[in-house]
Amino acid sequence: MSIVVEQKEALDARIAPLLARAQALYEDLDLRAVQAWKSEDPSRRAIGFLPVYAPREVVHAAGALPVGIVGGGDQVEIVRGDSYFQSYICHLPRSVVELAVSGRLAPLDGFLFPSTCDVIRNLSGMFQILLPGKFVHYLDLPQNFDRRLGGEFYQHEMRTVAREVGKLTGIEVSDERLRASIVAWNANRAALRELRALRSERPWLVPTAEHYLVLRAGYLLPVEEHTRFVRDYLAAVRASARHPLDNIRVLVRGAFCEQPPVALLRTLERAGCYVVDDDFLQGAHLIPNDVREDGDPWEALSDAFLHGTVPTASIYDEKAEKGDALVRRVREQRVDGVILMAPSFCDPALLDQPMLQAALEKAKIPFTSFKYAEDTGQFQVIREQAGTFADAIKLWGSA
Ligand code: SF4
Repeated sequence: MSIVVEQKEALDARIAPLLARAQALYEDLDLRAVQAWKSEDPSRRAIGFLPVYAPREVVHAAGALPVGIVGGGDQVEIVRGDSYFQSYICHLPRSVVELAVSGRLAPLDGFLFPSTCDVIRNLSGMFQILLPGKFVHYLDLPQNFDRRLGGEFYQHEMRTVAREVGKLTGIEVSDERLRASIVAWNANRAALRELRALRSERPWLVPTAEHYLVLRAGYLLPVEEHTRFVRDYLAAVRASARHPLDNIRVLVRGAFCEQPPVALLRTLERAGCYVVDDDFLQGAHLIPNDVREDGDPWEALSDAFLHGTVPTASIYDEKAEKGDALVRRVREQRVDGVILMAPSFCDPALLDQPMLQAALEKAKIPFTSFKYAEDTGQFQVIREQAGTFADAIKLWGSA
């Protein structure tokens, strides 16, 4: 065996264990990783948060582990979850209820339900009934972006969360503690920005499914550990011998809440699409840039939410600029086409879609759209659709 081959295999061997860990975390619906973290110190607490966004810095500053709950994906058989809901809503709440009633969320000491949509709001009420004694808070995120109105309201909300989580951990959230948490999350943001920049620059180094799993690991790991994990992955793929394929560059929008199965992401890539920008697990990168580390940390977090978020369907767009923002993003990312993929029955995503389509049509940017559910199991139709989209762009420059 030549030295070159030996080196190549050694380098690829650096990626494999990282991916195996990310995959294990992805499959960890019993939250064994959370349980293990808690067992190191009996005073530790963990707080689950539903999509899309919760200020994890506040939970972290209160000494608890923020844990992302994004449903059961294609790994959970819904036995009781369906009986709680009518048929014409998305799949995510069914699997979340299934996880709750089957005891798989037991390692969590409390739950934050952000004001993403009516489904998540109603779910917060159901959790109060299903899990009596657990801390359940409906997190009312501001939809007014004036610092004196929405800003003050949001700071009050964050202080409520800090106080309630603090009661569970026995830790009071001082300004100093919150600033330290902002620093920890900024380090994570910096690592994720680097990861996204590398994917955009050389998408063959960071396949979509891997990017997703690495991001998703941050929904279970403590932030400091996740930042190290992202940096290890970056170092491993940068040193790898992966080669580019003749794929088009696509941007994905609409998958910000209920998550598509990982196999669907692999299908897109196999159909000839490099996903160079997406809104999967939007909460992990809703605020892409650093939050101010000096001054009043509550104000800094509030300002970041009011003025530093990327456009998404669950946040009111007071200036109706989402379409223009999408077109700008397409240009910045040198994207060949857009895939609008939304969960079935997702009102926020499907209400935004006509506005986004109109902006893409006006800018003559090719796009295709389809719906999915977290437990979608048949990918052939999607593969054909995405493959035809990619081929049409390669041949004619438009779909
Ligand atoms: S997928 Fe859409 S409708 Fe369902 S909970 Fe998420 S935002 Fe709400």
